[in-house]
Amino acid sequence: MQIKSKLPSVGTTIFSVMSKLAAEHSAINLSQGFPNFDCADLLKERVNFHMTAGKNQYVPMAGLPILREKIANKVKLTYSATVNPETEITITAGATQALFTAIAAFIQKDDEVILIEPAYDSYAPAVEVMGGKVVPYALKGPDFKINWLDFAILISSKTKMIIINTPHNPIGKTLKKSDIQKLDELTRGTDILVISDEVYEHLIYDGQVHQSVLLFPELYKRSLIVYSFGKTFHNTGWKIGYCIAPDYLSKEFRKVHQFNVFCVNSFVQYGLADFLSEASHYLELPNFYQQKRDYFSGLLEGSALKALPSEGSYFQLFDYSKISNEPDTEFAKRLTIEFGVASIPLSVFYTHPLQNNCVRLCFAKTEETLLEASKRLKCLK
Ligand code: PMP
Ligand code: GLN
Repeated sequence: MQIKSKLPSVGTTIFSVMSKLAAEHSAINLSQGFPNFDCADLLKERVNFHMTAGKNQYVPMAGLPILREKIANKVKLTYSATVNPETEITITAGATQALFTAIAAFIQKDDEVILIEPAYDSYAPAVEVMGGKVVPYALKGPDFKINWLDFAILISSKTKMIIINTPHNPIGKTLKKSDIQKLDELTRGTDILVISDEVYEHLIYDGQVHQSVLLFPELYKRSLIVYSFGKTFHNTGWKIGYCIAPDYLSKEFRKVHQFNVFCVNSFVQYGLADFLSEASHYLELPNFYQQKRDYFSGLLEGSALKALPSEGSYFQLFDYSKISNEPDTEFAKRLTIEFGVASIPLSVFYTHPLQNNCVRLCFAKTEETLLEASKRLKCLK
């Protein structure tokens, strides 16, 4: 039978490809972003408690009410913003489903969606499946700065959506207050929607304040903001996240959500609601991960890999220009096979691959793992 693929140019994601290669060569896996340490015992205990107590049936479609209330309290504490848990928060199966659902709810055939590239790899296929068109704005290393004058040129009458991501995966940079203000100015008075991917909201370093769209009430009026508990509480495999959006946008979001997942895992939602009572569980994260960032980049100081600044996320880019001029996909493969450390090449996050001679390494690992990885990476000449 002949089938017409909706995504003819899409293969397997780089995260699966590199994790598989790492496993095949027994390499240390600093490619796919996940911690190699466990989440808190208390959280596991609460999830276990609710499962054993029989919280095993459907919960309301938009998410467990008590969890949505706890999220609204967290938002108040973190951003001094008031969101209505009834109408503005929807619990999703990770950030990936929230992103897909937000795109599916609003993007129609031939709508244009501006992506700031390198861009997380799930955005473009979701746009394309809906018949939309990706309009890339490519950032160049080593500073990867947005020039808002150049960016503005991409906005047309067909622009339906702009997707931003701060702290940024894969480059580890953060958007500053002036960046969000520019985005607000450029889209004010238009029908352009913004998806703000803020899954690394608490992984932000050197005393910076995360510039959530929730801090910008006018911009929030046309935005959908996406979060992931997997990043915040070290359990990427649980796949629970949420989307915060004004009620008129949440209403449309839920029309799609109810038919692509209905509700998500019941007892994990109960467990997370209990765990959210204690704010220190997320407020301590900048310190926790900053120590790992500094430990790892300290170990690699004086090596042939040049660390680019990581202002947030649990990723850091490393420039390998001193070692070789080969394409980053080749370099990442060789690094895995010959040196036993798996990384993610940067060029795969561009529509038109751009060579910055950089690979991404994930430092959400124990000190023991980071130390062993650094010993191997120091052998690169
Ligand atoms: N957005 C970004 C920027 C990510 O790095 C990830 C990957 N974890 C996601 C979304 C997806 O998150 P989740 O695992 O909760 O689906
Ligand atoms: N977000 C993770 C990363 O950037 C991977 C998620 C996935 O494997 N889909 O590495």
